Amino acid sequence: MRELHTLSVKTLTSLLQTKEVSAVEVATRFLARMGGNPHNAFLDIDSEVTLAQARASDAKLADGTAGPLEGVPVAHKDVFVTRDFATTAGSKILSGYRSPFDATVVQRLRSAGMVTLGKLNCDEFAMGSANENSAYGPVQNPWDAARVPGGSSGGSAAAVAAGLAPAATGTDTGGSIRQPASFCGITGIKPTYGRASRYGMIAYASSLDQAGPMARSAEDCALLLSAMCGSDLDRDSTSLDMPTEDFTASLNNTLDGLRIGIPKEFFGEGLAPDVRAAVDAALREYEKLGAKLVPISLPRTELSIPVYYIIAPAEASSNLSRFDGVKFGHRAKDYTDLVDMYKKTRAEGFGNEVKRRIMTGAYVLSHGYYDAYYLQAQKIRRMIADDFQQAFQQCDVIAGPVAPSVAWKFGDNANDPVADYLADIFTLPASLAGLPGMSVPAGFGAGGMPVGLQLIGNYFKEAQLLNAAHRLQQATDFHLRKPEGI
Ligand code: GLN
Repeated sequence: MRELHTLSVKTLTSLLQTKEVSAVEVATRFLARMGGNPHNAFLDIDSEVTLAQARASDAKLADGTAGPLEGVPVAHKDVFVTRDFATTAGSKILSGYRSPFDATVVQRLRSAGMVTLGKLNCDEFAMGSANENSAYGPVQNPWDAARVPGGSSGGSAAAVAAGLAPAATGTDTGGSIRQPASFCGITGIKPTYGRASRYGMIAYASSLDQAGPMARSAEDCALLLSAMCGSDLDRDSTSLDMPTEDFTASLNNTLDGLRIGIPKEFFGEGLAPDVRAAVDAALREYEKLGAKLVPISLPRTELSIPVYYIIAPAEASSNLSRFDGVKFGHRAKDYTDLVDMYKKTRAEGFGNEVKRRIMTGAYVLSHGYYDAYYLQAQKIRRMIADDFQQAFQQCDVIAGPVAPSVAWKFGDNANDPVADYLADIFTLPASLAGLPGMSVPAGFGAGGMPVGLQLIGNYFKEAQLLNAAHRLQQATDFHLRKPEGI
């Protein structure tokens, strides 16, 4: 039997279009693999819904009205609201919540013909780097069940790596697409802030949140990204007023003469030698492909940690005030009055990390501290964005590690939230600047764990990033390697 679960989105698309397989056959294969919820990757599955969508796809394939990705399965991070599946954002406070509408990204992928497999586990409200903050238990890394899959889109990365879905959506506020992609050996891209609509994406830090695809290859990511992006100004005021783009068009462009900036701050003492070796090898591969490496500096890289961990919690403290037991999800059973109901509902419904961030956020925004923390962080955020523009005068794309180490073991950082925060150092700068960034499999490090190469582009240069990633994937096979038994 053909191993449908190992095929790319690209291959599945053409097999479906030529009717060599049916959408129902493909969906059935993935649903079978998802049985027993391996790696705890999924939070909601409904095979009836999935099969009904697959049958509708088969009808469209038969009558010639098929979309570009008709019949190809996709699973969504549980931060995207969906009408046909429960949405929890990994939180107890939204346990059993069902949205009356689909997020724009979900709806756009459905219009392109994709069949929804279910909802994927993630850190609560996307706050985390290891998926240890999900109220529904952690996701295991398919390469080593004792290790974290990364976060917060850990379920998305694990599902693709384990062949439970050919592609998934993720969200990235400070690295949540790139870092789990790196930890699980798959490809993921966070587009320029505003490229994909945030409508129906449960808000964490609105000035940073951005949706993107996660799949095995850059080519598959390009296919999904082309369908996901597009202006949605009526429903997301920060969505970009730009036409949709075919991100597959320039995948095969030559890299001859491409200037790749190497920020010295990304290769300092904190970088594990195994990660460094894999990243260096990828850079040598780029030189063989005709690219030139240019030393650059992003002098405020270190400051991105305090800046992000002020701004993101500040926005979260405001965004999460809507979860009060009145309109959504969980409500405490016994309370004396309205304020008591709010207090008990939130005390019961939110996990520790979410509470920590709400408190930090409320603190940095409070009278007397606002100038010292929040305002200061905003000023430095602007300087970080300016540093990138300086750098892009000398180079076309920037390359470095996604994370300082490979996936760590469960429990290693469990009682030390700051250790997790520090590990975000290489993904936060691009997020703060609103730039597109991606993770590309670049080899393996300690414990045989995958290492991701990060590529950062200037605003709207997703096509260039995908081109650079695709050419590397034509020259290497790291993105094709799978955990044992997959
Ligand atoms: N690890 C970062 C955080 O905990 C980033 C998370 C994200 O991008 N959603 O906030």
